[in-house]
Amino acid sequence: TNTGRKLGIALVGLGSYAKNQLAVALEKTDDCYLAGIVTGTPAKAAEWSRKYNIPQKNIYNYQNFDEIANNKEIDIVYVVLPNSMHHEYVLRAAKAGKHVMCEKPMSVSVKEAEEMVAACKKANVQLGIGYRLHFEPFNLEAKRIGQQKVFGDVRFLQTNFGFSIGDPTQWRLKHALAGGGPLMDVGIYCVQASRYVTGEEPLWVTAQFGPVTDKERFATVEESVSWQMQFPNNAMVNGFTSYKSNIEQLYVSASRGWLQLGPAYGYGPLKGRTQEGELNLPIVHHQTAMLNGICKEFTATGKFPAHINGEEGLKDMRILMAIYEAARSGKKVSL
Ligand code: NDP
Repeated sequence: TNTGRKLGIALVGLGSYAKNQLAVALEKTDDCYLAGIVTGTPAKAAEWSRKYNIPQKNIYNYQNFDEIANNKEIDIVYVVLPNSMHHEYVLRAAKAGKHVMCEKPMSVSVKEAEEMVAACKKANVQLGIGYRLHFEPFNLEAKRIGQQKVFGDVRFLQTNFGFSIGDPTQWRLKHALAGGGPLMDVGIYCVQASRYVTGEEPLWVTAQFGPVTDKERFATVEESVSWQMQFPNNAMVNGFTSYKSNIEQLYVSASRGWLQLGPAYGYGPLKGRTQEGELNLPIVHHQTAMLNGICKEFTATGKFPAHINGEEGLKDMRILMAIYEAARSGKKVSL
C-alpha cells in the first residue's frame, strides 16, 4: 500500500513518552512521520496541531477514534496510553484496519495479550511492541555476545532496573491502570534482556515481593520484587525491580568471559564493558533507532520485525504474570 511516501503514524495518548520521546523521534525518522494524533485533551490537540503541522482531519479523540479507518494518511496507530488501556485501543485500531504499535507492557493480563495478537491476525494487520532496546547498540551487543556464545555459554545473568517514583497520585501506582508496579513498568526490560541474551525461554520462576516501606504509594502495586529463573541451557537469572531504588544494570557471566552494561536500560547514554575493555559503541536516540528499524523492515517486507512483534509481547506477559504468581504463592512456577 505504500507508494514511496513516508509511513504516517498516529500517536494515541499524548503523555510524557509520546511528547518527549516519540514525537521527537518522528521528526528525525527517514521512513515515517507524525501524521495524526488521538487525545482526550483539546488543548493538546491544538498545541500539537500547530507544532507538528497536523491537519484537523487527522486529529481524533477517544470517542471518534474508530473513524481513523477512513483515513488513508494513517498507516500505523501507536498506542501510548496507560497499560490497562492498551488492549481496547489495539483492538479498535485493528478493527479500523490499521497496523498497530503498542507500548510496553503490552497489556495487563495474558488473556488480553492473546486477544490482541488474535485480533491483529484476524484483521491482517501487523502488531509490534515498543521495545526500543532491540534497536540500541549496547543491548544488541549483549544479545550478540550471549546468543552467539562469543564468551562461551551464558551461565548467569544479574539484571536490575528500578527508580525512585515521584507523584503518589500517578496512574503507575494504581493497579487498575498499571496492572502492577515496577515489574510491569521497568522490570519487563530485565525479563526481556534475559530472553535476548540467552535466546531462550525460561523454564521456571521463583519470586519474592520486597517490603512495603511507603504505604501511601504502594497501596495497590508492589514496591519491589526479586525473581530467579532457569533457562534450558542452564543459565540462571537473578532479577530485581523497584520503584524505590535507583538501579540499572545487566551483568552477563559466560564460561569464558563477562559483559556488564551500566547504565543498561534507560535513555542513556548507556555504557558497557567486557573483560576485554570498554565497549565503544554509538550512542543513539533509542526511539528514532526503533522507528527507523521498524519502518524500514515494514517498507521492505510488509511486516514488523519478528523480534518485537505481538507474540514476543505475549511471551513477556506470560513471564511477568508467572513472576507475580510465584511471589504471591511462594512456589516455583513452571512456564
Ligand atoms: P503519561 O501519564 O505521561 O501519559 C499517558 C497519556 O494517556 C495521558 O497524557 C493522556 O493523554 C492519556 N490518557 C487517557 N486516559 C488516561 C487516564 N485515565 N489516565 C492517565 N492518562 C490517560 O504516561 P507515559 O507517557 O509515561 O506512559 C504511557 C505508556 O508508554 C505506558 O504504557 C508506558 O509503560 C509506556 N512508556 C514506555 C516507555 C519506553 O521507554 N518504551 C517509557 C515511558 C512510558 P491525552 O491527554 O492525550 O488523552
